[in-house]
Amino acid sequence: MKTDPVSIVPCADYAPETCERALSEVLRPLGGLDWVKPGMRIAIKANLVSAAKPEKAVTTHPALLAALTRLLIARGASVVIGDSPGNLFNASVLNRVYSVSGLAEAERAGAELNHDFSEKEAFYPDAVQAKSFSYTAWLDHADAIINFCKLKSHGMMSLSAAAKNMFGTVPGTKKPEYHYRFPNPNDFAEMIVDLDEYFRPALHICDAVVAMEGNGPTQGKPKALGCLLASKDPHCLDVLAATLIGLSPAEVPTIAAAQRRGLAPERVEQLTVAGDASAFMRGDFELIRNRNSHLFVSGRTVFGRALQAGMNACLVSKPKVSRRACVGCGRCRDVCPAHTISIVNGKAVIDRKHCIKCFCCQEFCPVGAMRVHRAAVARILTR
Ligand code: SF4
Ligand code: SF4
Repeated sequence: MKTDPVSIVPCADYAPETCERALSEVLRPLGGLDWVKPGMRIAIKANLVSAAKPEKAVTTHPALLAALTRLLIARGASVVIGDSPGNLFNASVLNRVYSVSGLAEAERAGAELNHDFSEKEAFYPDAVQAKSFSYTAWLDHADAIINFCKLKSHGMMSLSAAAKNMFGTVPGTKKPEYHYRFPNPNDFAEMIVDLDEYFRPALHICDAVVAMEGNGPTQGKPKALGCLLASKDPHCLDVLAATLIGLSPAEVPTIAAAQRRGLAPERVEQLTVAGDASAFMRGDFELIRNRNSHLFVSGRTVFGRALQAGMNACLVSKPKVSRRACVGCGRCRDVCPAHTISIVNGKAVIDRKHCIKCFCCQEFCPVGAMRVHRAAVARILTR
C-alpha cells in the first residue's frame, strides 16, 4: 500500500518564534504551504473539546494556532479556526471555550474564530458506517481544511490524534447520539474513518509539544514530548503518534479500521518518516489500553458465545466513579447517551446493565472523578 510521509521535528516550547520555526520545519518535507494560494480561505479544525487553559494540554495550543495563522496569512490566505466541543454548539459555549483556551492569541495573529453555528446533513453512500451524518457547516465555507490536533490518551479510542480529531465535525449535541448509534468501539472507529474520508483535510498537524497522558482526553496529565508531527494522511500520522507513546498501531481502533480498508500500514517500519522519531519515543507514557475484547473464542456455539460473553464481562474496560472525588455535578448524567447514570446522595451511580462503554462520562467529568477501569486480569493479559 502507498503511505504518505510523516514529518517530525523538535519543538521545545510554545514560545512564538519556536512554534513558527518548528511549523515551517515540519511542513518542509511535505512541500511546505506552497499549495496555499492568495485569496484562499483556510479552516483550521483545532481540538477545542472543552474550555481548558492551554497549560492543561486538553486543547491545541493557541501559540501554535497563532503561528500557523501567521504562515497562512503571509501566503495571502484568510484563516478561520473552529471546533465543536462536547456541549451545545452555540455562541455562549464557544466564546467561553475560545476565551479560556487562549484563542485570543490566534485572533491577534489575524485568525477569525468561527461564529457560524449552523448544521448540515451529509449523505455519504460510500461510507462503511456513517452513510448519513450531521456536521458543522462552517467547514463548507473553506477552500481547504487543516486538521490541527493534540496528542492525547483517550478513554474509548486509546489515542486521540489526527483521525479522532475529526469527530469534532459532528455538532456537540449530536455526539452522544453517535455514541449510541455506534456503541462498539470498532464501529465507532469506522464512523470516524468515514468522517476523515469525507472531509479529507489537506494537511494534518499534531501538537505533541506537551501531550496528555493518563485519564485523557480531558482530565489526564500534561506530558512533555517536545515535538510536532505532520502528514497529508491522518492514519500515517496516527501510526507514528501511537508508536511514540508505546501503543502498537493495531491497538488503536481508528488505525485498525484504516488498516482494514488498506488506508494505514500494519507496522511503523512501513512508514516514510522525515526526522528522527526515535528521539521522541516514550516508554513511560501512561496509556489507556481499552480493547473491546482481549481473547477470542469460537462464537458459533452456545458454549462459545457464553464463554466469550463471560470473558468480555471480565476483561472489557468500564467507567468507574471515584466516590471520594465525585462532586455530584451531574455532568456525566447529562452527557450519558444511554441515560444510565443517576445522582444518588450527591454522587454519580452507574446502572451497568445499560452502559455502552462510550466513556463520554469519563471525557466530560470536570474533576476527573470518572476513570477507565480495567480488571486486573485484563491488565495482566495485555501487559
Ligand atoms: S455510563 Fe459512561 S460509558 Fe456508560 S454509557 Fe453512560 S456515558 Fe457511556
Ligand atoms: S461528572 Fe464527575 S463529578 Fe460530576 S457527577 Fe459525574 S462523576 Fe461526579
